[in-house]
Amino acid sequence: MILRWLLFASFSVHVFAVCDDPNAQVIIVGGGPAGIYAATGLIEQHGIEDFLMLEETDRPEGYLYPIDFGGLSFRPGALYGLTPIKPLMMELGIGLVATDNSSYTVYNYNGEDVTAEAREREAAYVAAREKGLPLADDIDRCLRPRPDIPYKAKLGVNGWVAKSDIDKTMEWFNFDFNEGLSTRDVSTGWTYRQAMANLFPDKCFITGRARIILDGMLEQITPARIALNSRTVNVTQTDECVIVTTSDGTEYVGEYAIITNSVGVIQNGGVTFEPSLPPWKSEEFFRYQMGTLDAIFLKFDTKFWDDTEYILHATDRHGYYPAFLNLEAEGYHPAGTNILIGFLTGDEAYRAEHLSDEEVQAEVIGVLRDMYGESNVPDPTEFYMSRFATDVDIYGSFSAYPIGIPPEDSQMRLKGPTGRLYFAPEDAADIHIGNPFGSVLDGFFAAGGVAGCIQNQECDDYTPDRSICKPRPVKQRKNMN
Ligand SMILES: Cc1cc2nc3c(=O)[nH]c(=O)nc-3n(C[C@H](O)[C@H](O)[C@H](O)COP(=O)(O)OP(=O)(O)OC[C@H]3O[C@@H](n4cnc5c(N)ncnc54)[C@H](O)[C@@H]3O)c2cc1C
Repeated sequence: MILRWLLFASFSVHVFAVCDDPNAQVIIVGGGPAGIYAATGLIEQHGIEDFLMLEETDRPEGYLYPIDFGGLSFRPGALYGLTPIKPLMMELGIGLVATDNSSYTVYNYNGEDVTAEAREREAAYVAAREKGLPLADDIDRCLRPRPDIPYKAKLGVNGWVAKSDIDKTMEWFNFDFNEGLSTRDVSTGWTYRQAMANLFPDKCFITGRARIILDGMLEQITPARIALNSRTVNVTQTDECVIVTTSDGTEYVGEYAIITNSVGVIQNGGVTFEPSLPPWKSEEFFRYQMGTLDAIFLKFDTKFWDDTEYILHATDRHGYYPAFLNLEAEGYHPAGTNILIGFLTGDEAYRAEHLSDEEVQAEVIGVLRDMYGESNVPDPTEFYMSRFATDVDIYGSFSAYPIGIPPEDSQMRLKGPTGRLYFAPEDAADIHIGNPFGSVLDGFFAAGGVAGCIQNQECDDYTPDRSICKPRPVKQRKNMN
């Protein structure tokens, strides 16, 4: 008992001492788009310069980091520019190619061209997708009068069940490719439909330096305000301050903290909290699921494939190397780069990430040889594969709407502050979920919350709205006797 008291007393003395001498008013955990925009939001909109951003890697850019491949530069975490961010990219002169998802050739594993049949099946998928669904359309924010259902169920009710190899590939191409998850994992609720309408109409492939988007922001942040190679492992909050501990044991003290980690990092205990997050917030973090989109870059000596933008592989194993983007297609890169980018999502991405590069290369080249013939497909001269599902900085690529969420309240539960902690996970960005534009909005939102607290003493804890979903009155059953 005495020992416990002594330990508590020494901890309290330590905490009081450190709280007296903070490193900064605001500690920002994570230096991706959300962290960078939170920082510039503090500076530009609220005049707060006293912050410190802790970034685990040696570069503040998050998943917009580049790789050199085949003499070109790519950002595997931002290959495509989506609709909300396209105008800004155009303004900044970032190279973009409008993608044409109807430009594809489909082969089965016997090397037969089945494109015509695939187009018919895709039309059937789209019809099922577009068809209203009384069930889903009635879903309100309290999930009444009907509960939310998996997207797969909506498609099924509307007459689409992926049975054949071609069906599976066309479903993957139209759904998993965007979400990083399969139709059984994602909500049918209204938020998802809004996001689909909002994000993808003007999807384009980025050939230029997407990082320019962040450069202007980073210019405003003096290097002294960024601690690189600083991996946060714990965030402790007291009544007086926030103590952020990094993996080398360094403690950074702030009055407030903005946490930008993905739900994947929080779920996997990459950052822990003391005291624990309130149950309503913890539950929300675990409700979301990270989708994965891994890119497999393959460079060849010669081009052996078709001229269409996508080369699709009709496969009975859902998501088994189903699609390749052809960088030789018109408008992409100068002819002769001879690069294909293969994609994997969800469970197949997770599986492949546990294989060696050599094993993945053998699988993917095996698929291309099934499609184009053994003798026509040489070994690649260069190979690179992203491994986002097992990357401890994100544990996936982007999140998707879980089944059965009341959308507005759910996303407020993710980003709502608790005590001195403010949150900006990309997952909380409403219809901009899963793209840097959403991270920007969340970063600004968190900066506004902290600033209100510092400058106006308005530090409201978020309280989840429980009133909106009162239990229905229980109907008395009639006595049938
Ligand atoms: C494979 C993939 C493909 C994508 N494709 C597109 C696309 O085509 N178009 C598009 O618009 N968006 C795309 N995105 C999404 C886009 O990259 C993200 O929305 C955006 O990067 C999210 O920004 P963020 O700041 O929230 O998170 P991140 O960019 O993940 O930044 C988080 C930062 O925190 C750091 N960090 C993590 N853990 C810790 C820790 N414990 N301590 C300190 N620092 C930590 C990380 O190193 C990282 O720098 C893709 C993402 C991936 C991964």
